[in-house]
Amino acid sequence: MNPIKMVDLKGQYEKIQKEIDENILQVIENTAFINGPKVKEFQIHLENYLNVKHVIPCANGTDALQVSLMALGLKAGDEVITSPFTFIATAEVVGLLGITCKFVDVEWNTFNLDITQLEKSITPKTKAIIPVHLFGQSCQMEEIMHLAKKHALFVIEDTCQAIGADFIFKSGEKQKVGAIGDIGCTSFFPSKNLGCYGDGGAIFTNDDDLAWKLRGICNHGMFKQYHHELLGVNSRLDSIQAAVLDIKLQYLDEYNTARRKAAEFYNKMFENHPNLEIPAISTFSTHVFHQYTLKLRDINREKLIEKMKEAGIPVMIYYPIPLHLQKAFEYLGYKTGDFPVSEKLCDTVISLPIHTELTEEQQEFIGEKLLN
Ligand SMILES: *Cc1c(COP(=O)(O)O)cnc(C)c1O
Repeated sequence: MNPIKMVDLKGQYEKIQKEIDENILQVIENTAFINGPKVKEFQIHLENYLNVKHVIPCANGTDALQVSLMALGLKAGDEVITSPFTFIATAEVVGLLGITCKFVDVEWNTFNLDITQLEKSITPKTKAIIPVHLFGQSCQMEEIMHLAKKHALFVIEDTCQAIGADFIFKSGEKQKVGAIGDIGCTSFFPSKNLGCYGDGGAIFTNDDDLAWKLRGICNHGMFKQYHHELLGVNSRLDSIQAAVLDIKLQYLDEYNTARRKAAEFYNKMFENHPNLEIPAISTFSTHVFHQYTLKLRDINREKLIEKMKEAGIPVMIYYPIPLHLQKAFEYLGYKTGDFPVSEKLCDTVISLPIHTELTEEQQEFIGEKLLN
């Protein structure tokens, strides 16, 4: 049995090495390192895959979120609502722009924004919602879009962990997450479901004017050469990264299926265990299992982690501290008890290795150690 890793990028690369190497070499040979044809090709392929009108490639997922807020014209004094149970980037960019970050608790089952509480926390200052499709499963986008329309709010989907997942509308119609809100953001960080070999990100929108603005802001606020209409940023996807992504995009559905299969295998091992709660699957989303996250009941998590580490099994806690209790957000004035579900999740969750190369033999070994 091969050593177990949280994510096995080497094993994944070896299966597509020839295609990847050839595509990277082409970039090196034609030296179009920035904004080369590979970037445009990948952009078009991703637009087709997501069925979205515009994909704007950028340097990383954090920039994608920041540029989105900038393009929507959000500024100090405005409020943006998001989840406290996510990676900091989602809320960090809100704070960096001087916008007030307002947290709303998540649901215990899905780890995603609680819609009832979301509506209650909308004020006249609220300008946007950032739903985070955590661990690979969509938020209730139909209801979020309904609320957004009712209160005239923008919706920026944080799709960094859920690329390829489908949202299923009540009508039965499906749409890729990230293509539903005004803007969708994703990250191509190597360990994400669609990851490159460095940093990368992208912004999605169906709105022509917004696309134009997003593209300009990613390019120093420049809409005509050396005419800078506003202050932007420098955020580009390297051609070499686009070359990697353009190959890997062809395998994304296969990769997500492999993750789903691995999750099902784990579920079978853990579903009847009195101390473990397996991930809930909502009726309105497919799940692409960026993470496979269990909730522990009456088990000492630290001891369990210690035991797993001794057996050579990496496990992670996503996330140990909710954002409202992070020191960096102290200035927002939140306190312990404000978002009890997120707080309890932070104390209870544990994420097991999940990736495209995980074998059943490895999973059985993980299960054995976890259960005994
Ligand atoms: C990874 C991630 C980001 C940030 O992406 P980077 O490419 O690392 O900047 C933002 N939000 C979520 C939910 C993420 O998982």
